[in-house]
Amino acid sequence: MTTPIVTLMAQAAAAGVRVQRTREDHLDILGPPAAAPVAKLVRSRAAEVLRLFDWTHAAVTAPAPCLLCEKPAILRDPANSKPCHKVCADATLYAGHRRSRKGATV
Ligand SMILES: [Zn+2]
Repeated sequence: MTTPIVTLMAQAAAAGVRVQRTREDHLDILGPPAAAPVAKLVRSRAAEVLRLFDWTHAAVTAPAPCLLCEKPAILRDPANSKPCHKVCADATLYAGHRRSRKGATV
């Protein structure tokens, strides 16, 4: 079974890998040499990773508690359609923490 991309990104962040989208829609992947195996996995799934950065098609609905901070959020995470602030998702993803509260997918 393939590791969900958000789980892979959390593993990469925990290993010290930092991933950024460039203006040309490529990925900059930086990290310590020991994290090379997970960095290579991230690189091999670049198209999926790029979709994680794109919230332009995230649904906007009535306010509901954010999965991560529990404050009202109108955005729905494009990965799982659960209420979530993008800033909360980004902070959690890059910090390498699991987004596990209330059934998030990471
Ligand atoms: Zn939040």
